[in-house]
Amino acid sequence: MAVSVAAHVDGGRLWRRLMDLARFGATEKGGVHRLALSDEEIAARAELVRWGLAIGLEPATDPAANLFLRLRGREPDLPPLLVGSHIDSQPTGGKFDGAYGVIAALECAEAILGAGQRPRRSLEVVAWMNEEGSRFAPGMMGSAVFAGVRRMADIEPVRDRAGMSVRDALERVRAAEPDLPLRPLSFPAAGFLEAHIEQGVTLERTGMTIGVVTSIQGKRTFRVTVEGAESHAGTSRRAERRDALASAVDVVKALQAAIWDEADTVRFTIGQFTVSPNAPSVVPGRVEFSIDLRHDEATTVRALGDIIPEVCARARGPCEVSVRELLSDEPIAFPKTLRDRLAAAAGRLGFTHCELPSPAGHDSRYLSRHCPTAMLFIPCKDGISHNEAESISPADAEAGVRVLTEVAFELADADAVPGSTGGMTRL
Ligand SMILES: [Zn+2]
Repeated sequence: MAVSVAAHVDGGRLWRRLMDLARFGATEKGGVHRLALSDEEIAARAELVRWGLAIGLEPATDPAANLFLRLRGREPDLPPLLVGSHIDSQPTGGKFDGAYGVIAALECAEAILGAGQRPRRSLEVVAWMNEEGSRFAPGMMGSAVFAGVRRMADIEPVRDRAGMSVRDALERVRAAEPDLPLRPLSFPAAGFLEAHIEQGVTLERTGMTIGVVTSIQGKRTFRVTVEGAESHAGTSRRAERRDALASAVDVVKALQAAIWDEADTVRFTIGQFTVSPNAPSVVPGRVEFSIDLRHDEATTVRALGDIIPEVCARARGPCEVSVRELLSDEPIAFPKTLRDRLAAAAGRLGFTHCELPSPAGHDSRYLSRHCPTAMLFIPCKDGISHNEAESISPADAEAGVRVLTEVAFELADADAVPGSTGGMTRL
């Protein structure tokens, strides 16, 4: 007979901790400004470490400033089960994106201990470094480096707008946490579980409490540079101009037409656009813009991404255009064996549940390359996220942790974690 560890989840304690963590970087409108590796995040990490130590967890970090709190298992030499998410936020983020998954993992560890249990493998609460990518781009840095998708040498030179590099920011964090043991990167893990707010409206609209995540969309990102020539707005004639903004506008229109799909399944975004010198009386000499392209199917995201350079070249007019690809991530599917475990636990505990894909990226994307990985979603009000108005209900928050705790204990106590097929499955 399996032990019901979920009964030891304390919804009040969970909610208090969520509110307490939200004090670090709290904004006037009730949101959170807690950028990766910032002072606010360093303070929040210290609070997590204090909470962990208070219940007997062992804190540690790694060269990428991923933070681990270990509930030591009965056989501590076995690869641990990791459970967590991230605590960095967007500049005007909410209280729950990422933070929910980390606090949920902590509650999960405390509930297991409260039930008088100690699983076979260690269970480690984890907060991955820089998921959001708003200070240092691209995001999911800690999980990418941990999973071997990127190297430290790739992320260290990345700078924020103030010119600080990831290398220097990591050193500041390290200096603030001299007592934390440093573990090697990429240690073996038996599995990873991540609980997260949905950031969409599917659960809310269908009245479901638990979403079992099937997959994460594929994504490619690009930086396009249109190079013209600066000239005088009053004197240069149209025929002589090499107006980078005029060409960039044509390029953007051509891209939107080329990527357009009747079914509305492609996600194509130009979210950043920089005009130089950005002066009212100078013909723009240079424009840079970003492209974020996503789709559920690997073939579609590949084919559409591949046409971008030629579409840009066709529409460039008198200017030069160059396209640099920054990131290419195939869609991933989570193993059915683990999805079934989450669904079964939700059913046993009496929560409504359904399967759904994740249009947004998460640390689980990269962890799934390292070890068997699964994700669950809880509803968030009106699907609002990356926004100070982000909101969830205490009951849903507790429900998610109860399901997470059941499955985490099962997996941590098992001989082997199912779904060990190498992780990444192509759709
Ligand atoms: Zn997140």
